[in-house]
Amino acid sequence: MDFPLTIPAIVRRAETLFPHTGVVSRRADRSLDRRTYADVIARSRRLVVALRDLGVGRGDRVATLAWTHHRHLEAYLGVPSMGAVLHTLNLRLHPDDLAYIISDADDRVVLVDESLLPLLDKVRAQVAIPHVVVMRTGSMPIAGASDLDYETLLAAAEPTRFVEAALDESDAAAMCYTSGTTGRPKGVLYSHRAIVLHSMAEGMADCIGLSRNDTVLPIVPMFHVNAWGLPYSATLLGCAQVLPGPHLDAKSIAELLAGEKVTVTAGVPTIWMALLAELDANPGAYDLRALRTLAIGGSAAPAAMIRGFQERHNLRVLHAWGMTETTPIGTVCNLPAAMGELPLDEQYRYRAMQGTPLPFFEIRARGEEGIVPWDGRTLGELEVRGAWVAAQYYHGEAGDSRFTDDGWFKTGDIVRITPAGCVELADRTKDLVKSGGEWISSVALENALMGHPAVAEAAVVAVPHPKWDERPLAAVVLKPGQTATADELRAYLAPQFASWWLPDTVTFVAAIPKTSAGKFLKSALREQYRGAYGGAPGAVAGSGG
Ligand code: ADP
Repeated sequence: MDFPLTIPAIVRRAETLFPHTGVVSRRADRSLDRRTYADVIARSRRLVVALRDLGVGRGDRVATLAWTHHRHLEAYLGVPSMGAVLHTLNLRLHPDDLAYIISDADDRVVLVDESLLPLLDKVRAQVAIPHVVVMRTGSMPIAGASDLDYETLLAAAEPTRFVEAALDESDAAAMCYTSGTTGRPKGVLYSHRAIVLHSMAEGMADCIGLSRNDTVLPIVPMFHVNAWGLPYSATLLGCAQVLPGPHLDAKSIAELLAGEKVTVTAGVPTIWMALLAELDANPGAYDLRALRTLAIGGSAAPAAMIRGFQERHNLRVLHAWGMTETTPIGTVCNLPAAMGELPLDEQYRYRAMQGTPLPFFEIRARGEEGIVPWDGRTLGELEVRGAWVAAQYYHGEAGDSRFTDDGWFKTGDIVRITPAGCVELADRTKDLVKSGGEWISSVALENALMGHPAVAEAAVVAVPHPKWDERPLAAVVLKPGQTATADELRAYLAPQFASWWLPDTVTFVAAIPKTSAGKFLKSALREQYRGAYGGAPGAVAGSGG
């Protein structure tokens, strides 16, 4: 049979097999909303009827500007089921970027959280949006006269009028924009097929191994690469979902993990650094015995953090790598059983690598001389292809340089690949430090620094240097109440690296600037410290600190 792999099939499965499984959302006022898949799915179908009445047709983009909660899940399930495209807007972007993205995507409707209306109003001053539907929390009337109310629309929609669209699995189901750290944001479309196969993969034992016995809490927001696909995989596989709303601080998350007996959670390292500090500071305060996996990706997970969770809290970190263009998960680092015999240091070093590719996801790396051997040593830019890798950007936008002639996607990540196919990311192309013609990995230095007991966060950037071209500079945030000097931190790094790798300057800062996804915003640091070493070759040498 030629059975199309589509999101409506995910929804039908949850409807028939998991109707009573729970979907819990934390509201803005911190109270919990409890419902079931049966209810969420019924509401998603009313949403479809309502959107159709607003004129939304096949292929039209329906945007969301919202935190992670059940209404957002209703849009995830409903919008693609009508053949429209779910476009999640990143609420941490600047209004100018949002205006650009909404106009580029030509969104027909925006579903917006009431608390985010002030942000949307700044956007609306720049771009016309045909329909704005407000997801209210309170009972206050809506300010803008033309805005619609989500619950009123759903209440008025006659559920019997829902018709599942006849879809082709290659139709677009969802869309995200790249964060634009390297130029204008570019749209990435996800087909039904890509999302379905990615969801299946998340259920595999060598990936996250999701099943109906799991309760999943995505900390990575629904507006960031579809919360790593977890809302779809959880629905397909019958996991209960715990959706944290706007409260993403470590204490709120720890409470929710414990209170809802969450088994699997996922987020970027900055969130986990904060959670680890919260657990360390409050031993025994949270019962996290149900929690079997903390999936971490988006930036490199420092080995010291993986070790801290494991040894101090008996919590297992699972490191994964991915990108907006890869739906997003491409590689996952599960420790092979045979390595369980190795010394612990080696095990943690392995677990801090980005991992091996999932099925139907292929990797290779290209150096200056061509494709590099899988020897665990030779560096090259990671190229990928696979069943959930984008083939182009929306509108075919200026992304050609990201694809090779034979159709692989160039990730911009510099990696080594071990003989067993495990990827180790050395750096992003743009973050490598080129010192005297040799490369220094900023990721390796910052992860080592974050292993120091006094260090909360550390970012290393390349700073132009008159003699060496570039030299590393480390910006460090100390843990509250802790002290350390630059020399102490350099001495701490010294046994782990060649002496010329050590940052010339270690500067202490109150906070490291972050991107909309919670990653270190290294471009801002590079800009800030551009003159620290006296500038580019030919400039007058500075002190070097
Ligand atoms: P952006 O490229 O704008 O940051 P993405 O969310 O698509 O947006 O980020 C993808 C990039 O994030 C990857 O190319 C890689 O550099 C980085 N990344 C993702 N996962 C990991 C990881 N586990 N370790 C190190 N870097 C990672």
